[in-house]
Amino acid sequence: MILIDGKKAASELREELKKEVILLKEKYNKVPGLSVILIGEMAPSQIYVRNKEKSANEVGLKSEVIKYPDTVEEETILKKIKDLNHDENVSGILVQLPLPKHIDKQKVIETIIPSKDVDGFHPMNVGNLSSGYESSVPCTPLGCYLLIKKIEPNLNGKKAVIVGRSNLNGKPMTQLLLKENCTVTITHSKTKDLKAECLKADIIVAAVGIPELVKGDWVKKDAIVIDVGINKTERGLLGDVAFDEVSKVAKALTPVPGGVGPMTIACLLKNTIDCFKRSQN
Ligand code: NAP
Repeated sequence: MILIDGKKAASELREELKKEVILLKEKYNKVPGLSVILIGEMAPSQIYVRNKEKSANEVGLKSEVIKYPDTVEEETILKKIKDLNHDENVSGILVQLPLPKHIDKQKVIETIIPSKDVDGFHPMNVGNLSSGYESSVPCTPLGCYLLIKKIEPNLNGKKAVIVGRSNLNGKPMTQLLLKENCTVTITHSKTKDLKAECLKADIIVAAVGIPELVKGDWVKKDAIVIDVGINKTERGLLGDVAFDEVSKVAKALTPVPGGVGPMTIACLLKNTIDCFKRSQN
């Protein structure tokens, strides 16, 4: 069984991006810039943002974190986003989620100009992705896609089953695999006989939030299994896939932690650089 090493893949991607930033600097005499807006003091968000900033600096991007208290007015955030939309030193804008209840998430997402939407959440990017046009793609599914392609470069005709239909993970994952000519089934909490669906899959991507939902006897021999789930449990951090059981049947499997997680931030940097490149053309 191939243990898909997300840390190594992310480190290789960062190295490639670092080289690309050097070339972009030579060509345009400036580097891509990432602006992250962080609202409130929630510990996980603080950690994510710190890691994003560290990784951005590592590959040579210009990055800034703009912090607000969780009492900030929605209008202040929207005004800041509009300013960043017009700032030519800013290639990518990210507002760290979740937001305080009094701030409308969709309004925030839709205020970011699509060409700087490094999370790929703007409806314009969602539409472009599903129409097969160039767009920013949400970072986690993009990371999953790159990991799958490393294991199996030719996905033509493969049967993929996506467990979970969130806008963040399941839906964009479906679009990415459709583009690769997979036959994709998207499943969710109302799916009848999830086990039978999973057993047909050459590729399973689980993005649910239920520890060890996907069992060993749900997986066809030699399937590729990507585990997006991050679940804090009494037994520590667990994915949505029963790792020990599934590792006995799968051809390749991502661990949790150390699988999909590290690729997410690396893909954010990739998206920032791609936004910069599109803005120069
Ligand atoms: P979400 O928005 O809560 O969506 C969960 C999806 O799972 C929904 O579509 C839901 O179906 C489906 N579902 C729930 N119970 C199910 C069941 N018994 N059988 C089949 N499907 C079921 O979650 P998310 O934001 O996509 O996140 C999923 C997991 O990924 C979480 O553990 C999260 O922490 C993790 N995550 C990891 C990363 C990373 O970087 N590795 C990034 C983001 C998220 P309905 O639509 O019918 O409700």
